[in-house]
Amino acid sequence: MLLCYVAISPLKSQHFLSHRPLALAASLFLLLRGSVTAQTPPAAPSPETQKRPAGTAIPAPAPPAISYSAVHVDGPYIAMTFDDGPSEKLTLQLLDILAADHIHATFFVIGQNAERAPEILQRAVREGHEIGNHSWSHPAFAKMSDAAVRREIQKTDDAIRAAIGHSPVLLRPPYGSITIRQKQWIHSEFGYRIILWDVDPLDWKRPGPTIVMNRIVRQTRPGSIILSHDIHPGTIKAMPETFDQLQARGFKFVTVSELIAMGKPMPPQEPRAESPSPVSSPAASPAMSVPPAASPAPSLTSP
Ligand SMILES: [Zn+2]
Repeated sequence: MLLCYVAISPLKSQHFLSHRPLALAASLFLLLRGSVTAQTPPAAPSPETQKRPAGTAIPAPAPPAISYSAVHVDGPYIAMTFDDGPSEKLTLQLLDILAADHIHATFFVIGQNAERAPEILQRAVREGHEIGNHSWSHPAFAKMSDAAVRREIQKTDDAIRAAIGHSPVLLRPPYGSITIRQKQWIHSEFGYRIILWDVDPLDWKRPGPTIVMNRIVRQTRPGSIILSHDIHPGTIKAMPETFDQLQARGFKFVTVSELIAMGKPMPPQEPRAESPSPVSSPAASPAMSVPPAASPAPSLTSP
């Protein structure tokens, strides 16, 4: 799992790598093989295979991934995601825009906002959108105790369930801040998949609707998970044209869970000499981002 992070953010890892020659060698290997879009939990031997006499073990299928920055899909499918709401005014405007364009999106809601406006979550679900957990108060998980993280997740899960009648199945950690170990225990305790992103327009810096739109349209690839925030007026203003441009390019919008369900195994690849250029894109987001899915990764091999 460590190697995923190293491979995902090679430019930001120079300092880290300089102290770990083995990690460097391994990460270079991964870089040569392409980018990683999903991570799997460690493959624990099942009791069945342990008991079987040597030589008769049946290889188990790869376990499902627990963490996604993008999904390897066959068609032009993408998932639009909106974080940090619901916002009384802006989320309702956005729902109108989405309805007009017949687009389904995924909302990663803050628990305390969800508790204040359960009717917005209800409307979103009624109109075909998905709700995910984005913590109760938006802290950086990687710096927190397990007990504190658990409280943030549980309270939000409770608020979402109270609003829409069921728990979400997706979690997006605020700032993308989460350790590999946290991903694993959160997945086994809550059953959540951890959803990051591969397209980041940095809309929280409020660069203006045109720049938000241009960044999204430029970075989006089949299987992309697009990050944005339904608490910034400029983001909402950017959406009608963003949706038009993406649809004009043939992209089709699905929820994150639908995108994951469309995921195909990565074809095996020979090591190659070049790594994809988007790694160094100025718009690339923090450590968790991966380059767009244009360069299929060699499957979910990371332990
Ligand atoms: Zn957020």
